[in-house]
Amino acid sequence: MNRFRNFMVGRYGTDKLGIALLILSMILSWTGGLTGLEPLVVVSYVPFIWCIYRMFSKNIYVRMNENNKFLTKYTPVETAIKKKVQVLFGTKTHKYYKCSGCGQMIRVPRGRGKVEIACPKCNNRFITKT
Ligand SMILES: [Zn+2]
Repeated sequence: MNRFRNFMVGRYGTDKLGIALLILSMILSWTGGLTGLEPLVVVSYVPFIWCIYRMFSKNIYVRMNENNKFLTKYTPVETAIKKKVQVLFGTKTHKYYKCSGCGQMIRVPRGRGKVEIACPKCNNRFITKT
């Protein structure tokens, strides 16, 4: 373990881009394996090798820049996905409803029993369980 730690000193390690590359590689190889498309399995090595190369790279500044570039593209996507999941499943404290009149999303606190909700946009009223 100590040897490994010494080996990793001054090396970059993992970040979000590294993990994304690893996941991309797994998806490619699984799809390749499941569909019998061998070129996909071969292609899946590219992000994998890139990920390993980045982990052991000593050029930390360049790796950080790569990760930042990736994050500026990825973060809005991640936020949008998180929002979609929240609306679909609600959070621990709130539930989301779509107004039947105008389609506006309305956030309602959980656990209030049966309540009448008034849409803030079109004032359409409906009764629902929270
Ligand atoms: Zn409405």
